[in-house]
Amino acid sequence: MIFANNELTISFRCHSPRSGPAAKMQRNRETDNSKRNNSFKENQMSTTRTSQSNRGRGTIDRAVVEQLRESLRGTLLLPGESGYDESRKVWNAMIDRKPAIIVRCAGVSDVLQAINFGRNNSLLTAVRGGGHNIAGTAICDGGLLIDLSGMRSVRIDPETRVAHVEPGATLGDLDREAQAFGLATPLGINSTTGVAGLTLGGGFGWLSRKYGMTVDNLIAADVVTADGRLLRASEKENADLFWALRGGGGNFGVVTRFEFRLYPVGPGVLSGLVVYPIDEAAAALKQFREYVKKLGDETTVWVVMRKAPPLPFLPAHAHGKGIIAFCVFHAGDPEQGRKALEPIRKFGNILGEHVGVQPYAAWQKTFDALLTPGSRNYWKSHNFTDISDAAIEVAVKYAANLPSPQCEIFFGLIGAATTRVSPDAMAYGHRDAVYVMNVHARWELSGEDKKCIEWARAFFRESAPFASGGVYVNFLTSDEPDRIGVAYGSHMEKLQAIKKKYDPENFFRMNQNIHPTT
Ligand SMILES: Cc1cc2nc3c(=O)[nH]c(=O)nc-3n(C[C@H](O)[C@H](O)[C@H](O)COP(=O)(O)OP(=O)(O)OC[C@H]3O[C@@H](n4cnc5c(N)ncnc54)[C@H](O)[C@@H]3O)c2cc1C
Repeated sequence: MIFANNELTISFRCHSPRSGPAAKMQRNRETDNSKRNNSFKENQMSTTRTSQSNRGRGTIDRAVVEQLRESLRGTLLLPGESGYDESRKVWNAMIDRKPAIIVRCAGVSDVLQAINFGRNNSLLTAVRGGGHNIAGTAICDGGLLIDLSGMRSVRIDPETRVAHVEPGATLGDLDREAQAFGLATPLGINSTTGVAGLTLGGGFGWLSRKYGMTVDNLIAADVVTADGRLLRASEKENADLFWALRGGGGNFGVVTRFEFRLYPVGPGVLSGLVVYPIDEAAAALKQFREYVKKLGDETTVWVVMRKAPPLPFLPAHAHGKGIIAFCVFHAGDPEQGRKALEPIRKFGNILGEHVGVQPYAAWQKTFDALLTPGSRNYWKSHNFTDISDAAIEVAVKYAANLPSPQCEIFFGLIGAATTRVSPDAMAYGHRDAVYVMNVHARWELSGEDKKCIEWARAFFRESAPFASGGVYVNFLTSDEPDRIGVAYGSHMEKLQAIKKKYDPENFFRMNQNIHPTT
């Protein structure tokens, strides 16, 4: 960015054209992350003012940018301005991108103006909720970032049991407000995750076996589309858009308000950890698999294989050593929960356990300390309908050879209510998934990138034959454009038709992209 003759010259990535050879070239570029980064470096070196072109460069007059700044209720940030660097950080430290302009929205009016500005100036535009997406799609290089993280209001209607949620709210924000009335809706397991991105991809957590996916509990959404219209999407209004939003990600517009159904939960819930040494993992997992087949909807158990954190209920000699942890949760009567969980305590020789009744909102934060932002992360994921002996063997082999102390393999249990919705009811269609497996490579130093990424990829490859073939769109990394089709599955064609209707120019492309024409 340079100043010259009262003009602010910004190099930026252009939004690609819709069709033709140039469009194809641009699309290819967009799906190739490494090329995207190279293109960014090229832009940053450019200091000459160029007209907009398909090569992805452009400039904007200073006056036009200042006009946008003045028209906002929120804040506009340019590189070098106070708060800019903070605003471009996301959860995964592997992502380091520099938007040309950041609009920190304070309300719907700002969202409308930002979208119109991005469209009118052909800016590559990203949308940020909680900034947790592993692929880093919330941030773009050299374009416009519509940052919603300041819009965190949550309003609970305890009479109708409905939550009205702004798009920057975190899971913790929603849980806190809803729990003030003893209510909750299914969300994920890390309280700093954004409600917006989680919901638009599907969303699951401790309450999902009882109440379904997060999207199963979405009643309506307000959406600003690429042409700058504010639409309401529900079963009755713009039903096609509502269908697509529930699993189709941020492809169709910016959601400025979500409306969720709530249920009485807690406030005290039986939950905690039962931990075994890693050398008992195979035997424990085989018993777990059979246990799950008879499990009621109210009980959820996730399995994590990793190195033991220094938890006070584990013996000191186990700290830093391999463990398999059964993370247990019961959404109903705690006494019933104790009975339901009892078999888990008999899977082998317990290393330590810590299970009791605690506030639901506190349990929702239990894993935050292990998932803080700012570390380097790389994920690979498969859905499973069952875990075979062979799948267990592979998982245990890789869990016993972690490349870095924070790496882990987990099997998140869903099933039950999540499987009782028709796969065609909405864009999220993986109704056969009982386990969502994620191999979570996590480390601190860039020098460890190669070994950690290779470990995750190797496990992913070796476990693929035992998986269902499906994948959760929110767990895709930036180097998996070939799996986007797998994530949307048989719904891709319908999603493309809806995309064509609401975003024919593919303005919203910084996501697991559904292209309107290909
Ligand atoms: C530590 C951790 C734990 C997780 N645990 C779970 C879990 O238990 N269950 C689960 O289901 N998932 C989980 N996830 C995955 C999570 O669902 C995704 O990372 C999700 O994208 C996060 O949403 P966000 O708003 O924070 O993301 P962001 O990175 O801000 O956004 C991701 C994408 O969503 C779109 N988007 C965001 N906001 C809007 C909006 N208002 N309108 C339109 N599009 C928008 C954009 O395309 C954006 O690129 C976890 C992720 C992390 C990092």
